[in-house]
Amino acid sequence: MSGLSGLRAVVTGGASGIGLATSRMLAEHGAVVAVLDLDPSGAPEPLLALKADVGDDTSVRAAVEEAARRLGGLDILVNNAGIGAVGAVDDNPDPEWHRVLDVNVLGTVRTTRAALPCLRRSANAAVVNMCSIAATAGLPQRALYSASKGAVLSLTLAMAADHVRDGIRVNCVNPGTADTPWVSRLLDAADHPEAERAALNARQPMGRLVTAEEVAAAVLYLASPAAASVTGVALAVDGGMQGLRLRPAASS
Ligand code: NAD
Repeated sequence: MSGLSGLRAVVTGGASGIGLATSRMLAEHGAVVAVLDLDPSGAPEPLLALKADVGDDTSVRAAVEEAARRLGGLDILVNNAGIGAVGAVDDNPDPEWHRVLDVNVLGTVRTTRAALPCLRRSANAAVVNMCSIAATAGLPQRALYSASKGAVLSLTLAMAADHVRDGIRVNCVNPGTADTPWVSRLLDAADHPEAERAALNARQPMGRLVTAEEVAAAVLYLASPAAASVTGVALAVDGGMQGLRLRPAASS
């Protein structure tokens, strides 16, 4: 599982949170890694930091081309860049729906489209999409975000079918709430951040948030040759949030 030596990876949104932990872990296990990010300044060496906006096709094509040229090809693509949205179905105006779907869904489409010619030439090609518990469980106040991640889940399955005969595996990881700068920003904006954090911890059966490194480890597995027979899979890293139904602690 640790053998990524000789493999070349691109991670979108790799300068913060889950993407940064993933980029570091892939590099620690022997891959050469390019980070494509709106603000790549958070990606330290040996990561190759490239500025790119997954919401812009020209930007994505130029960055993927540069990454492939400087790394000597591509084997692994991690579509991790994403943005959030808060609200019920009647809360977000149309431009926000377009923006979030554009980044979270079309961002994945654009990067994959640009990387496909390189991936087809790889003997160990793998795409890992960053999905979410929001794709598989109904969470309050997340209508737009959940719709975007539901699309990422379905897109993962469709891409896995389309490219299995190209030798490209496509899977996704579904994190529960993870302790990243994104969640810190949400907590900072809450009226009662400590109460909000306690509520998020309590929502996960393990009683704590997932770490970025735990999500990265799942990406590492799916991207590695150890997962050579795994495609079309959604791997939950969610502290039991999707699969478990516990009784309250006092009555267990
Ligand atoms: P984060 O905000 O810490 O990092 C996101 C990174 O993506 C940032 O570096 C940002 O600059 C970059 N980015 C945003 N828009 C971009 C764009 N248009 N083009 C290029 N880069 C862009 O967030 P995170 O918590 O690490 O989340 C990463 C992914 O994990 C997202 O897809 C998110 O939906 C998913 N996820 C997060 C959680 C969580 O609880 N944190 C849970 C489930 C899924």
